[in-house]
Amino acid sequence: MKKKIVVPSITEMLQADLAEDLLLNYPRNLVVEHFRKAADISRHQQLTEEAEPKTVSELINEAKRTIEAAYQPTLVRVINATGTVLHTNLGRARLSSKLREELVDIACNYVNVEYTLETGQRGSRYDHLEQTLTKLTGAEAALVVNNNAAAVLLSLTTLAQGKEVIVSRGELVEIGGSFRIPEIMTLGGCLLKEVGTTNKTHRFDYERAIDEDETALLLKVHRSNFSIVGFSESVSLKELKEIGQEAGLPVMYDMGSGSLLSLQQHGLPEEETVQDALAAGADIVTFSGDKLLGGPQAGVIVGKKEYIERMKRHQLTRALRVDKLTIAALEGTLRQYFDEEQAIANIPTLQMLAVSDDVLKAKAETLCRLLSQHDSLAVRLEQGTSKVGGGSMPELELPTWLVSVSPKQMSVTDFVTELRHGKTPVIARTKFDLCLFDVRTITEDELSIVADEVAAVLS
Ligand SMILES: *Cc1c(COP(=O)(O)O)cnc(C)c1O
Repeated sequence: MKKKIVVPSITEMLQADLAEDLLLNYPRNLVVEHFRKAADISRHQQLTEEAEPKTVSELINEAKRTIEAAYQPTLVRVINATGTVLHTNLGRARLSSKLREELVDIACNYVNVEYTLETGQRGSRYDHLEQTLTKLTGAEAALVVNNNAAAVLLSLTTLAQGKEVIVSRGELVEIGGSFRIPEIMTLGGCLLKEVGTTNKTHRFDYERAIDEDETALLLKVHRSNFSIVGFSESVSLKELKEIGQEAGLPVMYDMGSGSLLSLQQHGLPEEETVQDALAAGADIVTFSGDKLLGGPQAGVIVGKKEYIERMKRHQLTRALRVDKLTIAALEGTLRQYFDEEQAIANIPTLQMLAVSDDVLKAKAETLCRLLSQHDSLAVRLEQGTSKVGGGSMPELELPTWLVSVSPKQMSVTDFVTELRHGKTPVIARTKFDLCLFDVRTITEDELSIVADEVAAVLS
């Protein structure tokens, strides 16, 4: 005899006590949709697998799980235990928690983003950052757009649309797979004129390539994520400026990371600052807000007023403009730079790069102690290295302290997978059969979260 298929009606499910909370927290049509789905699955299972009918409560609980999963934000906070400070896939720079209140206040209220309070007249959103940026860098003018790719595009289009831009073959970089100098040049409507070779570009290469009528700009690009070693030569910014001056051409420098202070005293290699680039004569310098600067995603353009004024009037600027949150986050970050010590203490990116060995070791010891409570884990303190990331200082290996763990009852692959799927996902490195936690990018407060997540995986 054929078994009877039993599925409660949607009305019955909606009237159940258990549904009350769901209806209070989620839109009714969404609840109905998931109830229907749960009921359909049960009907199908009864038909094809001879499964037992489900009770109303069982079906509601199933729907509850799928509703909650569907309603989860896909963008969530994670713990970066990789040690890579500017991890592009994990959002590059983390902002100072000191900015939290300020940012929430700006986000949830009306603000004078394009309004001048003194006069009651319309203002410009670009004024908020210009003063701070010119003061910090010594530039005549400044403009902030969506990211550095946008800054380069806008600069090229404004300064050289329909004209030639001269670049060394050793600087035709690709960043993160989606930003390539030759392609951004085409997009900006400029003609790329490559000079020199991959390893060597000389002053005469630029000089010979300049066409009085066709050339509009000399461009220098920071190699950022690679380096050329051995038999190589390039033309310095200062020399490029001399060539530009003789030919009456502006010089632009895409610096990529663009730091505003040197971290040499803290053991990092010498890195040219934005101030250095301007002092060397660059007419336009562009850089990212969320690389070494340690701010939000943004593209900063600093340099000569005559060029930046033209950019401000360009139609493309509107399409690349930043919102009030970016302005607030960048302003809050830049403000720290008026005092170098304050910047290193308060900007997480700088703090994580400049942190002392003692502090790292103490953090690793704390984490080691927290994790050693588990008999099913072999835990050890190890020395290792971290990366800057974000295509900055690619060769640099920063000495760091790691906590290495080896789970005894599961594979390391399963262990790190489970860690990624936890309440607060923890992203760690693996080496052979070890999971490595690099404490450089884990804050003091996050150590206990890591410990909780590990405990959850093991239980
Ligand atoms: C990172 C980088 C870019 C792109 O900057 P985004 O802020 O990621 O858009 C462009 N040029 C150079 C040299 C870079 O290093």
